Amino acid sequence: MMTGSRVDAIDALLPQTQCGQCDYAGCRPYAEAIAAGKAPINRCPPGGDEVIAELAALLNVAVMPLSPAHGAAAAPATAVIDESACIGCALCLPACPVDAIVGARKLMHTVIAAECTGCGLCLPPCPVDCISLVPTGAARDPAAQRASSGRLRQRYLAHRQRLAARSAGHRGGKNTAPATDAMARKRAALDRAMARARARLGKTAG
Ligand code: SF4
Ligand code: SF4
Ligand code: SF4
Repeated sequence: MMTGSRVDAIDALLPQTQCGQCDYAGCRPYAEAIAAGKAPINRCPPGGDEVIAELAALLNVAVMPLSPAHGAAAAPATAVIDESACIGCALCLPACPVDAIVGARKLMHTVIAAECTGCGLCLPPCPVDCISLVPTGAARDPAAQRASSGRLRQRYLAHRQRLAARSAGHRGGKNTAPATDAMARKRAALDRAMARARARLGKTAG
């Protein structure tokens, strides 16, 4: 049986893009599934063959090709917001797993390019389709990906904690039923949008 440190070791090899293309809600859940023997090691398109080889060595299992059903290892891209079209609805903010979008309700939003992983999860929630994924022009660089993974993991954890705290705040406050209902609807809409984005990314990449 895998220990928590074994999950940590697997998670440490994953790129922390948090894109969900592996069919899990982020790198950590995929690491837990691998550790539990519930998922194969070949479902991470951002990690590509390099991560598969590292996982195979760690787990002492055979190398296998990247699952085409889960996408292909793509060149880096970054999200760009057409700020003249942005209506400031803020729907893209909770969709970004690493909090790479800044903005406030009714104000223009923008992407922090240095933190954007190009996961594409912010595109479906945008009601005016003003977010595009643009290739950075750089080649795929597993070493650079590995170098940024620790920072991205921390940003992802902070994002999850912030959403959980906000949700708990709504639950614990007075007369919060309407806000909680609205949040649940928004969460459900975002979950559906993220599922569509993952399906689309899988189709286009695979
Ligand atoms: S596919 Fe995306 S979410 Fe899944 S392990 Fe790879 S980078 Fe993480
Ligand atoms: S800005 Fe969009 S593409 Fe970039 S990391 Fe956030 S959700 Fe992914
Ligand atoms: S979802 Fe689109 S319109 Fe709404 S704030 Fe984000 S970029 Fe602007």
